[in-house]
Order: sequence, then structure tokens, then C-alpha cells
Amino acid sequence: MSELLIKNARIALTMDDARSELKGADILIRNGEIVDLGQGLITKGRTINAEGCVVTPGLVNTHHHLYQTLTRAVPGGQDALLFGWLQTLYPIWSRFGPEEMFTSAQVGLAELALSGCTMTSDHLYLFPNGSTLDDTIAAAAEVGLRFHPTRGAMSIGESDGGLPPDTLVEAEYAILEDSIRVVDRFHDPRPEAMVRVGLAPCSPFSVSRELMRDAALLARDKGVMLHTHLAENDEDIAYSLEKFGCRPGQYAEDLGWVGDDVWHAHCVKLDGAEIDLFARTRTGVAHCPCSNCRLGSGIAPVRAMRDAGVPVGLGVDGSASNDAGNLIGEARQAMLLQRVARGADAMSAREALEIATRGGAQVLGRGSECGQLRKGYRADIAIWDVTGVESAGSWDPAALLLAGPTRVRDLIVEGRDVIRDGQFANFDLAAAVAKQNRLAQKLAERS
Ligand SMILES: [Zn+2]
Repeated sequence: MSELLIKNARIALTMDDARSELKGADILIRNGEIVDLGQGLITKGRTINAEGCVVTPGLVNTHHHLYQTLTRAVPGGQDALLFGWLQTLYPIWSRFGPEEMFTSAQVGLAELALSGCTMTSDHLYLFPNGSTLDDTIAAAAEVGLRFHPTRGAMSIGESDGGLPPDTLVEAEYAILEDSIRVVDRFHDPRPEAMVRVGLAPCSPFSVSRELMRDAALLARDKGVMLHTHLAENDEDIAYSLEKFGCRPGQYAEDLGWVGDDVWHAHCVKLDGAEIDLFARTRTGVAHCPCSNCRLGSGIAPVRAMRDAGVPVGLGVDGSASNDAGNLIGEARQAMLLQRVARGADAMSAREALEIATRGGAQVLGRGSECGQLRKGYRADIAIWDVTGVESAGSWDPAALLLAGPTRVRDLIVEGRDVIRDGQFANFDLAAAVAKQNRLAQKLAERS
């Protein structure tokens, strides 16, 4: 039996059903699970002193392309709209292999962890030069985060009127075969699962109608979730109207892509009827505010989605379009962006933090296991030191989003230390960064 006690937190924002905020709180963890919250708790195991700290559930990232961490701020892609940006980056990505996928994922996951993230999804949709989903799963095991990789895909290359070059697309039978392989090999349905696999054709403009439908059938057969990009910007809507003769919401519904086992990234351009459809079917949304700003896609109607009852989580999106992977920063950006659109009372800091924790867990199908500090929940916990310069002068825990800090002091996943006193407990970050920079240099030289 392994036990850990978090002691004397200045305040714990539990994100439980009552949104309880516990002052002077202790949290007792046993075998990866939260078994008690309160005051004066004792343990025979290790104690973490959380005096002067705000404690929150670990943040949940619902959309990322970890491989892109190796192509941040690439010249030529810095100022482009979505489609132009993709066309700049495809040739660079086509030179990736297993080493690039593994290292880039390690660095992206480490960056997320430092910003309070305990669970992340990943959307990997290109597999050049022998790379596989296995590369990123190995990286997540080393860094120590709870991981929801999705087996993405592109099948319509340039010669068939698609956007990606032919070298980056796969045959649809091969996509389905490998999807079955990775689900059978890695997907874990248990509540304490560290890896759950989903299926994720890249977007309606890079795979066929048939593959969208077959992926949905396969996911339901296997009991795994579905993920893709949807309604990201005006070009995306225009493409859907022209090629499919309908809006993206209709396309998704026709092909089985709505339900509580589905979540779509972006959804910037959902209209009122589509928001109702998502609410009715409990279809989730990964809101990616920084990426939407960076690519000039627009402001997602998150206020309207939340008011209608659509499950919403946050995503940092790939580091080629953010270009950072700081999840607490993303929560702040989500709050600010709704305020730009709808005024200062459009979203509170507490609501943004709720979306980043409880909201994300619900979107990933883990709402009864993760995303809250609550008895019986998995011990995924972020501890924020609020005695530093960013927080000096604040006394409300909402300052975490309004002021800072933007890095955790400690991070616990499944009851295990991932970050201790600001440093990784079991992962060599310096070595991963050095390797990443060597690989980036090689890509830059050949670009
Ligand atoms: Zn994306």
C-alpha cells in the first residue's frame, strides 16, 4: 500500500459538484486514489507540505498534436491562415520519423506537465518513415502523464483534390487495420487507466466520407472515443458547404460523429442549431483559444455552448500553431477571449479553471474518475505556490488565472510525483530539450 498526504494547503479548489473550496486542507491519497479530504489527516506514508499553495485538480488537455512541438514558429507559417499554414508545414513533417515523434512528444508533454496538466489527449494523424502511435505512448510513459492518444489519419492527398501531399496520406484499409492494432494493444478501459486510445481521422477535408463513417463504426465496436477537427474557420465552413452540400454539424451527425463518446476540436464556427445538436447529444468540444487567435480563426462561442450544456474542455492545440503548450495560460486565454467577445462578466476565472479541469475530464470520458479533488477520484493533483512575485498582493485563489503563477510547484499523477519542487522527479528534461534542439536544427538546415 502506498500512501501520500498533502498537508495544509492554503486552499483546495475541489471542482466537486458543490465547487467546494477548502481552506487549510489536507488530501490523503492511497494507491493512486483520493481517499480523504479535510483537516488534521495523518499518514504513515510521505507528506507534502502545501502551506502557501493553492491546490487544484490536475488540468486536462483535450487537443494537441505533440509531434508539432518540433516545429514551433516556423518561418513561412507564422502569419498564414489555416490552409496556407498547413501547406507550409506538410513538407517539413514528411521528414519526421520515430525519433522525431518520440522526442517531440516528450518535450510537449513535459511542457504541459510544468503548466499543471496531468492528463492529455494527442491527435497524431501522420505517420511518415515508420513512425507509429507507439512512439508517443512510450514518451508519455516516460514523462508520467495520463495519456489519451488518438490514432489520426489522412487519406485524401493532393492528387485526389485534398490538401496534404500524397506522401503523407495512407490507404484507408491500412488506417483501419492499424487503428484496430493500437486499440487492442494499448487501450485500457479501467478507471485507473493511464492510456486510453481514440480514433481520429484528421478532418473532414483530409479523409473520405467512408472513412469517417467506418471510424465511427469501429470506435463503437471497440468502445473507444472519436475525435476530429470541426468548423475551425470560415474556409472550413465554405469547404463543407461546397464539397458536402451541408454545414459541418450536419456532416458530423450524418456520419455518426455526435454523442458523448465524441469530441471535436475548435468548433469556432458552430451556429445555434449546431450548438443545440451538440448539447442534445452531449458531444464534446475542445476549445483552443490561443491557436484560434494565432491562426485568426475567430472566437468560439464558448459562453453559448456552456449555457446550452455542451461539454467543453481546453486544448493547447499543436505547438506549431500556438506555439506554446502552457495549459494554465490557455485557461487564462479562454477567459480573456470570451470577455473580448461578450464583456467582462462573460467568463470568470473560476469558470475557466473549471473548464480546464472538470470540463476536460468530462470531454475525455473521464468525468467520474478525474478532474475533481474528491473521494474516490484518481489522485491527479496540481500544487501551485502562491508565495512568489506573481501572486504577491492577492488573497483570492482566482488570482491563479488572473495573475499567476504559470508553473506548478508539484504535480501528482495517479498518486505519483511527476514534478517535485519545480523539477521533474523521474524524467531528464535537459536531455530531452537538447535532443529536440538537435533534431530541430537538422530540420531547419534542410528547409
Ligand atoms: Zn488541431
